[in-house]
Formats: sequence, C-alpha cells, structure tokens
Amino acid sequence: MIRKARVRSRSYRAYTRKDIDRIGKHLGLSPREILALRAVSFVLPFRVNNYVLEELIRREDVPEDPIYQLTFPQPDMLKPNDFRTMLRMVEAGASEEALLAAARKIQRSMNPHPAGQMELNVPYLDGRALPGLQHKYRETVLFFPSQGQTCHAYCTYCFRWAQFVGADELKFASREAETLARYLAKHTEVSSILFTGGDPLVMKSSVLRRYIEPLLSGEHEHLTSIRIGTKAPAYWPYRFSTDPDADDLLRLFEQVTRSGRNLALMAHYSHPRELRTPEAQSAVRRIHRTGAVVRTQAPVIRRVNDSAQTWADLWRTQVQLGAVPYYMFVERNTGPKEYFEVPLARSLEIFQKAYRRVSGLARTVRGPVMSATPGKVLVEGIAEVKGEDVFVLKLIQSRDPVWTNRVFFARYDPEATWLRDLEPAFGEKEFFFDPLLREIRKNRKAPAWGDRTVPRRKITIFGHVEWE
Ligand SMILES: *Cc1c(COP(=O)(O)O)cnc(C)c1O
Repeated sequence: MIRKARVRSRSYRAYTRKDIDRIGKHLGLSPREILALRAVSFVLPFRVNNYVLEELIRREDVPEDPIYQLTFPQPDMLKPNDFRTMLRMVEAGASEEALLAAARKIQRSMNPHPAGQMELNVPYLDGRALPGLQHKYRETVLFFPSQGQTCHAYCTYCFRWAQFVGADELKFASREAETLARYLAKHTEVSSILFTGGDPLVMKSSVLRRYIEPLLSGEHEHLTSIRIGTKAPAYWPYRFSTDPDADDLLRLFEQVTRSGRNLALMAHYSHPRELRTPEAQSAVRRIHRTGAVVRTQAPVIRRVNDSAQTWADLWRTQVQLGAVPYYMFVERNTGPKEYFEVPLARSLEIFQKAYRRVSGLARTVRGPVMSATPGKVLVEGIAEVKGEDVFVLKLIQSRDPVWTNRVFFARYDPEATWLRDLEPAFGEKEFFFDPLLREIRKNRKAPAWGDRTVPRRKITIFGHVEWE
C-alpha cells in the first residue's frame, strides 16, 4: 500500500566541504574520519542536503549505509598515494589554493570525460559548434542547460563529476534556449529532446520554462517527447510539492502534456529507500497528476545496490507507484570507478535474479547497459556456443541506426567490467563497430547527427547514411 503523504515543507539547505566538521559530528564520525573526508572532498565533489541527511541516511549504519556511500566521498575512492598526499596537506594546514591545485592534478588522472563526451557528439548549427548539445543518436538530442549543471546532492560515483568540481574548462553547457529551439526546428529527424546535467530541476521553474516553452510551438511538431533527467524526486522531492515554485513547475509539466507531447521524468533512483518516504511518494503522485510519466534508471554500484534483492525491491516499488523501470546501467570508467565497479558477469547475475522476482510490469527495464562510444550496449546473457562461453551483447542504441538491435558476441570473461575489457568471440579479430572507433580515434571527432562539417566523402562506416 502506498502511504498517504502529508508532506510538511522543508527549506533547502545544502552542506558542502565547508560544513564537514559539523555534519561529520552529526553522523558520529571520529575526528580522524572527518579529516579524511575533508581531504577526499577536495578531489571529489561533495554536497548533501538536509533531507538526504535527516531522512535518507541511517546514522546508525554509517559508514556502510548505502545512501551514505552514495553521497559521501570515501578515502578508498582515491589511489592510496593520492589520498596520502591530500591527507598530509590537510593535516599540515595547507592553503585552500594549494589543496585545490593538488586536487586538480588528481582529478585529471581520473578520466573525467569518459567516452569522449567533450569532443564527440557535438552538433553544428550554421557552421558553429553547439557545446551544450549532444546529438549522438538520430532520434534523440541531449541538452545541458547551463543553469542546470549542479544537483540537489551529489552522487559519489557520478560520471559527470568533473562538472561539479570547479574545473570550468571541463564543463560543457549552453546558455542558449534560442539556439536549441533553432537546432531542433531544423532537425525533423529528432523526436525526443532530453534535458540533462547535472540536474535541470535545480533550475527555477521560470528558467526551465524559457527552454521548454519555445519547443511547444508549431515549428517543433516532430518533437513528440520531452524528457528531463533528474535526481530531484530522490534527493529533493519538495521540488514537486512544497518548494515556492513547485506548483509553477507542475503547471509547466501540464503545458507540455496538454500540447499533446509525452513528458517523461527520467528519474534516477539508486536504492528503494529513496522511494519510501512520504515526501518521495507524494512527488511521484504529483508528477503523474500532470500527465507526465516517471521512468527510472540507475547504475549498479558496489556498496550501494549490488544485490538482486535491492533491485527487485526498487522495481517493485516503482511499479507500485506507477513509475516505469527503464535502464539498469553499468558504472562508467570514470572517477572512483574501482571503488564502485561490479563485473559485467555479476551485474548480469543481479539483473537476472531481480528480473525473475518481479512481475511482467517491471520487465520494461533493460540492463545491464553500457553507454559506450558505439552506442548503448546491452549485456543480454551468457551462452555456450560450440564449446565456447560467450557474452551475448546487443547494441540497443547506435550511432548508426542500421546497427540498432544488432546482436554480437564477446569471449566470456568473469572479470571484465566494461566493453573495452572484452574481446570478440570465435577468434574474430574485431567487433563490427571497431572500424568506426578507429575512425573516431584518428579524427579525434565522431560524426554527430547534423554535423555538416564532416568532409564530403564516402564514409563506408556510415554506409547507409547519405552524407554526400
Ligand atoms: C542514452 C542516451 C540517449 C537516450 O537514448 P534512449 O535509448 O532513447 O533512452 C541519448 N543520447 C545519449 C548520448 C545517450 O547516452
């Protein structure tokens, strides 16, 4: 049964590195632990809020508590040497400036932009690159509104972590609602725009409206769905209930659905606890009342949700609330990956066990999925073919639409954690998309949809696309 929510309002209060002493004490951490937390938080982004701290984290379970692991950077997330460097500097009372400089160096060694997000996928308009947009798949454009590049709280494993640690030159964002509208008006192949970040819902409703309203015009009839990638329903559900501009946000949602479009909140839920509070349940109900749908996604993360029971609970609760399970992701190769990573074989086992425990209504979920350079790669299963154990993989989203839904095989490897660890099965020399990856590496640039600066020549890897 869904509990009836009587939500009391709460004023948003963020806690960052500067508040670590106070919240460390509140959580019962020792002075040593607080010092360590301070040292790590120069390198990895840290931000929690009063709701996460008071309603989601179970103090008595710290440090194993999954929500604590999800939001508080840990010493083991850094290489031992890097951690020692930072800890010594903090102990010696180094200046903020020196600490940040040392941290910056460490951050750069942590693959801040996996799968070439910075230089790949960027589309052009009138010969000019649009850095706040990504157009990797024909039907879907990703948009990073510049005011939405932060979150109500930070996840320690976030693959967009480099956006939050003050490294401005690493940030990709666009200020231009107008450019977005113009780009989309020109690109009638696009049916779905996905606002992402950070979290677009940290923006004031009035700012979000400036981006969304122009897309509801007659010029954009091909745009049949608007998606918003967000963690707000989990980390700050008051965004949909008692925040000063919550009602304005819901009115904007209604405007979208009344325009005849699908509005999907791509809500990020990592643990069932994020759905159990009255505040969280009220948020989902209020979103639904606008005609919008909630679709859910999250990566499998060691120490947070690496168990079949957790995922079965998560999906069941989502379905109970009317949300639609969408993706179970594999953690990307960035940031503190070693700390959180789960081998593909293990992720698959978790997925399958959880999948078997839920009804068909929850089996809208697909996973485990890697969002990699050629596209979204689904680990479909493990099979034995002619005496060889193989991973059965499927490209469920692809740079080249003719590859979508194509199945391929990799040699089974129980330790592999990402696509790059895998080798083709049956003695093949390469995967079918490897020529594309070579081309991308050579040019340091991938063909993005709508990118007319690609030289006019025969591109065999995109054989089915008319570039000429
Ligand atoms: C996942 C993703 C999308 C959306 O893909 P869907 O399969 O439609 O959910 C779009 N662009 C990029 C770059 C993505 O990674």
